[in-house]
Amino acid sequence: METCPVCKLNDNLIVIEELSPIAIRIECPRCGKFTILDRVEFTAPNSKFRPKLSAWVRDLKEQDAKAPQITSDLLNNLQSSIPDRSPREKQIKLLRSIERKTKYPGQIIELNWKYDFPLAWASNYEEFLYYINSLHDRGFLSNEMTSGLSSVTITADGWDYLEKLERHMEERTQAFVAMSFSENLKGIWEGPIKNAITKAGYTPHRVDAEPHIDRIDVKIISEIKNSRFVVADITEQKRGVYFEAGYALGMGLPVIWCVRKDDLENAHFDTRQYNHIVWETEDYLEDQLYHFICAIIGKGKVS
Ligand SMILES: [Zn+2]
Repeated sequence: METCPVCKLNDNLIVIEELSPIAIRIECPRCGKFTILDRVEFTAPNSKFRPKLSAWVRDLKEQDAKAPQITSDLLNNLQSSIPDRSPREKQIKLLRSIERKTKYPGQIIELNWKYDFPLAWASNYEEFLYYINSLHDRGFLSNEMTSGLSSVTITADGWDYLEKLERHMEERTQAFVAMSFSENLKGIWEGPIKNAITKAGYTPHRVDAEPHIDRIDVKIISEIKNSRFVVADITEQKRGVYFEAGYALGMGLPVIWCVRKDDLENAHFDTRQYNHIVWETEDYLEDQLYHFICAIIGKGKVS
C-alpha cells in the first residue's frame, strides 16, 4: 500500500510512478492525478494546508484541467493564495461538482466518504457529511446513506438554485486585465496572459490605451463590473493598475496579482496577503496563471 504525499491517504488504489530519479507521478483516489517534480525538495503540507491542497488538486481533475506539476515555488504560491472558503462556498462547490457529475436530472450520484470529501473542500468526511446534510435540509439534494456512501440526487429546488447562481456570477466570462501598456510588456499580454485566461475558459479583456490618471474612466469601471475576476500585473508600477485592482477588490471581485521578479521589491502590495504570481519567464507566468484561475475562480465555460 502506498501513501499519498499530499493527503496522507494510505490505500491500495494509490499508484505512484517514478518518472525520473527525482520526479514522481501520483494517482490518488482522493486528490486525483499530479506530478511532484522534485521529491527531495517537496515538503508535505501541514495539517491546515493539506485539505486545501488536496481539494485544489481534485478540483482541477473535476474540471478536466491539466494535472498539476507541483514544485516548491507552486506550493509557496498556493499556500498564500488558496482562500479560506466559507461553509456557504463549500456547499456551492459540492453542489456544483454533483451537477457536473449528473448527466440527466434525476440521476443518482454516489459520493464516497473516504475519497470524495475534497469535492466540498472539506477537511474530513465529518465536515463533508455536514455539507451533504445541509444541502439536503435546504431542499437541494435528496440523500440516502449506506455505510461509507451517500447516494444523492439534485432536486427541482436544487436545479432552480443552481440556475439562480449561474445568472448571478458564473455567467460572467470576462477577465479584466490591468497592466502597463509599455512596449516591454506587450509580449506578456499577447502571449502568456491571453493564453492562460483563454485556456482556463474566460475571455481576456484589456482596454486598448493607458488610462488617464487624472480621470476615472467610466468605460473601465463598467468593464470591471462586467468581469468575473481581474488579473493585475503591477510590473512597472503604473498607478492605473493599482486603481483598477483596488476598485475590483472593493466590488468583491477576486484579483490575481502578478509581478516580474526584478520588480517585486517596488510592489505596493502585501505579498503575504494576496494571490500573487512572481514570474521570470513567460512559460512560468502562463502555467501559474492558468492554475491560479482554475483554483481560485474555477474553470470557465468559454471554449
Ligand atoms: Zn491524496
